[in-house]
Amino acid sequence: MTGRHTVLVTGGNRGIGLAVARRLDEAGHRVVVTYRDSPPEGLDAVRCDVTSARAVDEAFTEVERRHGFVEVLVANAGITRDAPVAVMTEEQFRQVLDTNLTGAYRCVRRAVPGMRRGRWGRIVMIGSEVGQSGNAGQVNYAASKAGLVGMARSLARELGSRGITVNTVAPGLIETDMTGNLPTRHKEGLLALNPVPRAGRAEEVASAVAWLTGDETGYVTGAVIPVDGGMGLGA
Ligand code: NDP
Repeated sequence: MTGRHTVLVTGGNRGIGLAVARRLDEAGHRVVVTYRDSPPEGLDAVRCDVTSARAVDEAFTEVERRHGFVEVLVANAGITRDAPVAVMTEEQFRQVLDTNLTGAYRCVRRAVPGMRRGRWGRIVMIGSEVGQSGNAGQVNYAASKAGLVGMARSLARELGSRGITVNTVAPGLIETDMTGNLPTRHKEGLLALNPVPRAGRAEEVASAVAWLTGDETGYVTGAVIPVDGGMGLGA
């Protein structure tokens, strides 16, 4: 990465988002993370709930006031509300789509005018291996993550001529709060089948994001980069 850029990482106060933010901060960028309740230590932060278009707009306005247009957007904020489809409520379905997919759309829509003006931009969606292969009990989550890939690829076509790339990173099972509550036996069962038979680390996802947001990756767009220890091979 050569230039210094203004970076916004949604949900950058913990987990994968925090690892991404730290990595890009160490690389010398002007990094801002969004948080809802507790900002992380040592990073610039703005409060934002991505389910509110108004909150997203206000967060971007604040980042622009502090650092100028967002040039790198990492759409990372995400939730799960797992249940078998027969008992999954419409509310559970809606919440997950509203946060994971529509939330990313709200941020992209707000970020693109500034990127177009600067004729340079990097957008990275944090998708999931589950978006490709599906997962029992995660109809809502898998739909949201597959949706991100369609959105990223459409954006890649729409914005490529403006110097803006749009890619998706698709993590497998990464040790964070999100996966902390999964039963150990379930996790062990999943990981035993992995070519790399262990859980991933948030820093390993951050490394792929750092690569995709670099100045030297302007010819990589619309791609889905797995960081999953081979979990999705063949899917
Ligand atoms: P965590 O649960 O540790 O963190 C989720 C982050 O998203 C938090 O910062 C949280 O903020 C934020 N967030 C949730 N809802 C909203 C909202 N409405 N508005 C703004 N921020 C919100 O999860 P991970 O770090 O594991 O997940 C990060 C991303 O990676 C997600 O998109 C997830 O789907 C994806 N992913 C994770 C995998 C894993 O195995 N861990 C695998 C594949 C993909 P707050 O602290 O305020 O709750």
